[in-house]
Amino acid sequence: MDLEGGALPVPEYYDAKAGASLSNYGVSVSHASARLLLMDRVDAQGSPMMTHALERAAATGNQWSVKLATDEELDKIDDLVRQGVDNGGIGIGVMVGYYPGARSEGVARIARVAAEKGSFLTTHPRFLSNLAPSGLLGQEEFIAIALAYDVPLLLHHVPTNALSETQAALDMIDAANANGATILGEAFPYVKGSTFMGTEILSPGWQERTGMDYSDLMWVETGETLTEETFNKYRSERPDGFFVMAHIKEKDMLAAVLHPNIIIASDGMPLVDADGKSLPFDAPFGAGLGHPRSAGTFGAYLRIAIDDGSLTMPQIIAKTAYLQVKFLERFVPSMARRGRLQVGAFADITIFDPDNVKGMAGYDLGTNSLASEGFVHVIVNGQPVIRNNVIVPDVHPGQEIRAGR
Ligand SMILES: [Zn+2]
Repeated sequence: MDLEGGALPVPEYYDAKAGASLSNYGVSVSHASARLLLMDRVDAQGSPMMTHALERAAATGNQWSVKLATDEELDKIDDLVRQGVDNGGIGIGVMVGYYPGARSEGVARIARVAAEKGSFLTTHPRFLSNLAPSGLLGQEEFIAIALAYDVPLLLHHVPTNALSETQAALDMIDAANANGATILGEAFPYVKGSTFMGTEILSPGWQERTGMDYSDLMWVETGETLTEETFNKYRSERPDGFFVMAHIKEKDMLAAVLHPNIIIASDGMPLVDADGKSLPFDAPFGAGLGHPRSAGTFGAYLRIAIDDGSLTMPQIIAKTAYLQVKFLERFVPSMARRGRLQVGAFADITIFDPDNVKGMAGYDLGTNSLASEGFVHVIVNGQPVIRNNVIVPDVHPGQEIRAGR
């Protein structure tokens, strides 16, 4: 499921995936792609944000990430988003952290559109910072509009933005839910993050805001640690290239990953080759370069949670499936028959060995996309895709998940 970046036009995303996916798939309406279309004249053609669309937007200076929308553009964005919801987009993905100077009014208007359409918001909130304006403040913006307009909210990768204020961010989600909100927080089991080099996160002052320095950044295509010189070079010459950054403290990652009501998601991005090009869908495990979360999230999470021992096994598993469908089934009726092992439910079943399950993907070049171990059988819509620890070749049983169906 791609609910953070989302896609636009929504039907083109579903057309591209039909009959070609191992897993079930679904997408939110991309607010960023609406900006991209209006401000850079780049049609993302239903592809997720972190793809060729970024390469093309570099030519126009990524206006979508820095430009203030005019009143007219806000109207057009609202209309494009409405159309995406009508086409079955699951929620509205507002990754405003990538355009942090955006008009607050524009963000609030999207909450109104979500309320009007019976949809929900997902967000990568503003600010990745320990200093005000902090990541926690960015989270507060979305909790406020979720409460004001009475729309559910999926809050992506809480530690990524909240950094050293992660515990306060988790407490605020719990408090908002206790006071009538419907907010689902999310996290991935790694202390490093990853995104594209042109990101606003790295605009001047980034060291003070994030607590990182050049040596905390790694260029994905070569595995090299950045210096001031290479930082400036890649930022100007390759704004679409990916980097990995060490910005989350282990205690903050664990607070979120081991919280009983925070779901696990990969925050995965396309794995690339040594030239930064996305690999084809059927590339073998081990070939792709990038953050290990794109290959190892669920193995890594299960190992951490099982070894920690503070959650029961049903709680551990619920964070990977049941909590997600409980949130989504009010928008996607078929989700009421997924995410649980039950007569009459879809046969989406993962059988893992609790003693040996683990993520094998790492940060070192050559290990970025290694397959996890300990997943013995994986069944998607009744069709085995892993049998006795081996991937079944040439099967594509994934079905579309769309709002309203
Ligand atoms: Zn994000």
